[in-house]
Order: sequence, then structure tokens, then C-alpha cells
Amino acid sequence: MVGGGPAGSVTAALLAERGRRVLLLDKARFPRHKACSDYVNPFGARILADLGLDAELAALGAHRMEAMLIHAPGGQRFLADFGAAAPGARVLGLTRYRLDVLLLDRARAAGVEVCEGAHVRDVIVETRGARGVVATIDGSRELLRAPLIIGADGRHGVVARALGIGCSPPWPRHTGLAAHYRGIGGLDRWGEMHVGRGGYAGLAPLEEGLTNVAFVSASQAVMARPGSLEAYFVAGLEGIPAVAEKLAGAERIGAIRGVGPMAHGTRRAAGDGFLLVGDSASFLDPFTGQGIAEALQGALLAAPIADAALRAGDLSARALAPYRAARRRAFRAKHQVAWLVQAFIATPPLMDYATARLDRRPESSQTLAGVLGGLYAAHRALTPAFLARLLRP
Ligand SMILES: Cc1cc2nc3c(=O)[nH]c(=O)nc-3n(C[C@H](O)[C@H](O)[C@H](O)COP(=O)(O)OP(=O)(O)OC[C@H]3O[C@@H](n4cnc5c(N)ncnc54)[C@H](O)[C@@H]3O)c2cc1C
Repeated sequence: MVGGGPAGSVTAALLAERGRRVLLLDKARFPRHKACSDYVNPFGARILADLGLDAELAALGAHRMEAMLIHAPGGQRFLADFGAAAPGARVLGLTRYRLDVLLLDRARAAGVEVCEGAHVRDVIVETRGARGVVATIDGSRELLRAPLIIGADGRHGVVARALGIGCSPPWPRHTGLAAHYRGIGGLDRWGEMHVGRGGYAGLAPLEEGLTNVAFVSASQAVMARPGSLEAYFVAGLEGIPAVAEKLAGAERIGAIRGVGPMAHGTRRAAGDGFLLVGDSASFLDPFTGQGIAEALQGALLAAPIADAALRAGDLSARALAPYRAARRRAFRAKHQVAWLVQAFIATPPLMDYATARLDRRPESSQTLAGVLGGLYAAHRALTPAFLARLLRP
């Protein structure tokens, strides 16, 4: 397993629980911070509950929210109320510093051998496909062989790159910057998304009174900035008046972490001797807040198929093809909704128009909240009837 984020830790744990020997390599040492808005959507929160982690999440102080308040550039807003879409549905706000180490410890407890500080540099490919990795561990180069290589190494990861199957989409090319703040009030029951004209900001309440503040904008604008990254981040947030108001008097804690361009794809998520889970397979943009949930769901899809292939001793692309099919069924419509949402964000008048209608049309806003939260089948937000109801004057 390459990578010990949510995708890698959970896939590894599920395989170990099925009796498989798993070695997980991560270049980081945990706990570690990660550029993220630290928000687990209701579907992801349900998976974490099903994994038996509710008590630990509560003990870590995970903030439970019912909704996301979405603001359009023109001041219109609507509440994506997950609790109304499915009673009891909650979003979790918890720093990745805490969440990821919880999941990694769970993998260890399941019997996974975890090797931190192990930087995978390349994949060993032989005639029958991926057969191992080359890693730097404690300064020395190691060749590690395994019947199955699982890439869970995030966007633009080394596994997809070494196998030559990365194919990032030309649009959107966004960079995400995120930091933690203390002293932001008025965010108990919900987090907030604010779409501005030069980017969008997200605010998510977390454990111990912290709030995650993120700003996402065009990667080109970030690269062409005249001053420091910090000045760019602050100016971006101040450029959205409602966000500037929330930040007045708040204090930033720690560094600003950034990633860009964020969108990443691959031509196939499985092939001879390998599988890709989580961001290493694909990631579009954090606006819909489904990255962690998708990493967890990908783990649930991958583990039984990888286990069956390992038991049969057949790690061919054909034996692993059910994983590709399962991902298509699970994610295709979700990704189409995410693309559609990006189109609205990129077109301020359309975003203003749709947000005003969502605010007035509880049935439409409930459907969209259910879809964005992973609580309803995503195709419900793609039907002509839904779009006509949403967009009629
Ligand atoms: C700015 C921003 C905000 C976001 N906000 C949200 C949000 O609020 N909610 C949400 O659900 N999603 C959000 N996401 C997306 C979310 O962060 C990802 O979808 C999620 O982290 C995917 O998990 P993963 O396990 O696939 O990958 P990651 O969490 O990226 O984990 C990959 C792991 O692989 C390790 N690794 C990488 N390369 C190597 C290597 N060569 N050798 C060894 N180890 C390696 C890394 O150290 C890391 O630990 C956001 C993303 C960004 C960029």
C-alpha cells in the first residue's frame, strides 16, 4: 500500500481484517497536517460510524454539523440542510492531523505493518504488470516486492505517474489554500461556503474551537501573484465581504497549506498488479466536500475485490476489472454533479440565479443537499425534471 491517508489506511485495514498481509508505506510521519478543509460529508461520516469509530471521533472532539450555508457572489444564499435530507445525517469537522492518525492506528490495530518516512520513488513493472516498488527508507534505497500494489498516494501520486496512466483534466485548474483559525463565531450548526468573483472560501468548525478557512482560486492567479502566498490568501478572503466580517478579530494558528492544480484523473483505476484508491485515482475540486468520503468508499469497493484476487492468485487486469466497474457505478454520476457545480461556480450570474431559486424551493434544495451529502443517488440531481424545476424562473 502506497499512502496512509484515509484511502490507504482504510483499504489496508479491511484487507488485514480479511487475513491479508499488508505493508503500508507513507513518506510522512504521523500525525501530520494536510491541505484540506477538514470536513467529512454525511456519507463519509456514516462510513466512519460503520467502521466503529464514532466513540473515538467524539473523544477527539469532532464537530458535528447539520448543514452547509452556501453564499453566491451576489449575496443570495441557501442552506444545504443534510439533516432535513436524511434525519440524523451529520457532517464532521476534524483536523486531518487527528483524523488521519486515527485511521492509521486502526490499520495498525488490524495487523497492517505501517512504515512511516518511506518515500516511494518508482513502481517495479515486469511482463505481468506491477510487482513492487522502489522506496527510500531512512536514507537507503529499498526494493520491495508484492503481488499487488495499491496506490493510495493522493493526487499526482507516484504509482499512477510511474505506470503512465495519469491524465489531469485541462479544467478546472484550481489551487486550494487552507489554514486554521481561532475566534470565529456563529458556525455551530453549519459550515459556510462563499463563492466570490475571484475564488471561493470555505469555513468549517472543528475540534477545540478551531475553524478551517480555505480559499480556492485559479492556479494561474496564484502563480502570477505579486506578493507572498500569505498576502494572496488574506487578500482573497478579504475580497469576500461576508468572510472578511467573520474573520475580523480571529487569529490564524499555524501555517497556510496549499495544493494546486488540484484536479487529477487517471485512465484506469486498476490494471495488471495494481489498484488505485482515493485521490490517486481521481480528484476534481473540494467545493462539494466529497474527497474523504470518496476515499473511504473507494476503500470499501477495493478491499473485497483485492482480497478475492489475492486468494485466487490472479492479479491480472481482468481479475481486478470488477473494481473499475464498481467505481464507475459508484462515482460516475457523483463526478458529473461535481462538474456541473463547477460550471455554476465559474459563472457568477448562473450561481446567483440558481442559489436564489434553491432558497425558495425547499424540494430542490433538499434534493441537492441529499446528493451533495452522498445521501441520495447522485443521478437525482442530473434528471431533466430536477434541472427544469431548479432553473425555471
Ligand atoms: C484545499 C483542499 C481542501 C479540501 N477539502 C476537503 C474537505 O473539506 N472534505 C473532503 O472530503 N475532502 C477535501 N479535500 C479532498 C481531500 O483532501 C482528499 O480527497 C483526501 O485527502 C483523499 O484521501 P487519500 O487517502 O486518497 O489521499 P491523501 O489524503 O492525499 O493521502 C495520501 C498519502 O500518501 C502519502 N504519499 C504521497 N506520495 C507518496 C510517496 N511517493 N511515497 C509514500 N507516501 C506517499 C502522503 O504522505 C499521504 O499521507 C480537499 C482537498 C484540498 C486540496
